[in-house]
Amino acid sequence: MKFKKPAQIKKLKSINRIMLRYFLLLAFLLILLVEVISFMVVKITVNTQTRERISRVGSDLVKVCSGGGDLDGLMRDYRREGINSYVLSADGKVLLPFGADFEEAGIGNLENIVNKLDGVGAMVYSENNNIVYLAAVEYGGEQCFISASYSMKIIQSGVNTLLWYFIIIGALVLLVAIIISCSASQRLSGGLKTLSSTAVRLAKGDFSVNFENAEYSELADLSDTLNTVRDEVKKSGDFQRELLANVSHDLKTPLTMIKAYASMIREISGDNPEKREKHLQVIIDEADRLTGLVNDVLSVSKVSSNLDELNFKVFNLTEYLYGLINKFGYLQETQGYNLMVDIDANLYTRADEEKIGQVVYNLLGNAVNYTGEDKTVYISLKSNLAGDRIKLKIRDTGKGIAKEDLPEIWNRYYRVKENHSRPVKGTGLGLNIVKKILENHKFDFGAESEKDKGSTFWIDFPAVPAEIDKE
Ligand code: ADP
Repeated sequence: MKFKKPAQIKKLKSINRIMLRYFLLLAFLLILLVEVISFMVVKITVNTQTRERISRVGSDLVKVCSGGGDLDGLMRDYRREGINSYVLSADGKVLLPFGADFEEAGIGNLENIVNKLDGVGAMVYSENNNIVYLAAVEYGGEQCFISASYSMKIIQSGVNTLLWYFIIIGALVLLVAIIISCSASQRLSGGLKTLSSTAVRLAKGDFSVNFENAEYSELADLSDTLNTVRDEVKKSGDFQRELLANVSHDLKTPLTMIKAYASMIREISGDNPEKREKHLQVIIDEADRLTGLVNDVLSVSKVSSNLDELNFKVFNLTEYLYGLINKFGYLQETQGYNLMVDIDANLYTRADEEKIGQVVYNLLGNAVNYTGEDKTVYISLKSNLAGDRIKLKIRDTGKGIAKEDLPEIWNRYYRVKENHSRPVKGTGLGLNIVKKILENHKFDFGAESEKDKGSTFWIDFPAVPAEIDKE
């Protein structure tokens, strides 16, 4: 068998590519967010710290100036750290350091600032890319100002370097994200591809395949489901082969017998009424077996495909059960079977009468077939105390069913490999029909068995008043 890809109407998207795309987008956005926040925090922190530093330097200079210390020397020390400081007269002349001009101090318009300074004494402000400290002092007996300033350009270059570091680190992290996401999506889609190719082998009829994926829980679940599907498909194939073998085998024997006995009647016993009667009886019995077999096969396929709708109605289960048991009466008379009944009077249920008949008939048939040497079958039909349920029990005294076989007997074509007290001819379909019908009714049912003590099959019917639903 060749498996062709169906013609693609719509171009399908690859999980692999979509995952990769979204993962990378997410990684990129996260990196960007982290970097922008870090960058802002660094920038604000540096700015605040610089302002604090300038403020401290300015206060130091004011203290030294007021205390008459070596102001010029201290100013030189700070200049080495990149902090330029000046002593300015009220009319805008630079008193210290000698020879410097006002513009160099970079404090802005002196008049405006002095107005702002009034009443404050000292202030820190930004002016032309500088952070400036300005305070009013008395210098050489005159009202003067001390300024200290730090160029933001120095900070900016540091911040720019940091920005580059961030970009490089971001790119490296993104690269790692690409590698991780590629390998993750490769592994995921690899797992899917393996499952898909294994499924193709299964579809070609290779039941030895095993779906495995221990890496991702979803794929492991899918593998488990596919393994169950494989087992079910295999079982169903085995069942079909077994049925074919069973049915053809079971058809062959009666057909051979019918042909042989018909020939015998024509050639030998035609004129001998006694022998002819015997031979005709064999033909009739074998034809009955054939009918039974064909009916079983038909029922099972009908019930399985739900072709049969249930025809619910209220009926007297007690009377109905008696009617069915009577059909087995000939066994009592001709073959010494004992059917022991313990049946409550006038119990009504609501079900498909004909189908329930089929169920009980199958269970009774099995009990008779498989019961022990005493050839006894016990049938009880009892209502519970509340009067809302009815329990039917059919018990035999045969070899019973092994514990491991009990759940299997309800499966199609299942027949316990066991020698029973009498040779039993069956198809392994009866209990499957029983199961399907009772499941369709949603009735509880089951089987209990003890090895060598016999088996009990039970059904739990709803009890209804006789009046309901009497259409
Ligand atoms: P069959 O036509 O073989 O009886 P069933 O579906 O009715 O098919 O039963 C399936 C198998 O369950 C039987 O082959 C038999 O091995 C086992 N079984 C059913 N009923 C009984 C029983 N009352 N006692 C022992 N074994 C039973």
